[in-house]
Amino acid sequence: MAKKKSPLILVVEDNPNHMRLTCDLLKAKGFRCLQANSCESVFETLAGNRPDLILMDISLKGINGLTIVARLKSDPSTREIPVVIVSAHAMQQDRENAKEAQCDGFIAKPINTRTLAGQIMQVLNNKKGS
Ligand code: MN
Repeated sequence: MAKKKSPLILVVEDNPNHMRLTCDLLKAKGFRCLQANSCESVFETLAGNRPDLILMDISLKGINGLTIVARLKSDPSTREIPVVIVSAHAMQQDRENAKEAQCDGFIAKPINTRTLAGQIMQVLNNKKGS
């Protein structure tokens, strides 16, 4: 049997340094990465790729990440892709907004390099079981 491909993660992040750090970390943990730094690039990427999970920054240039999530969750073709919010605004209200937007997880910035991979795997495994 063919070896299962490592999970493909779409990282949505507008800060180039955060993007590099996050992708380096994910690759080091055996994930594959796609990158998008704007709303447009998210939908361009999704037109030709099917990530297993999306890591979504909240503060993007000119748009709130949750607005993108709302579009993803209202479209049957992308609704099933789990979304994990990554935010420096780790206030209770932000967590609640993320939950309301049907996000599957919430990670506070700065990203904890020791726990990120485990948090992603947990969401992927939950999704498989549901
Ligand atoms: Mn940002």
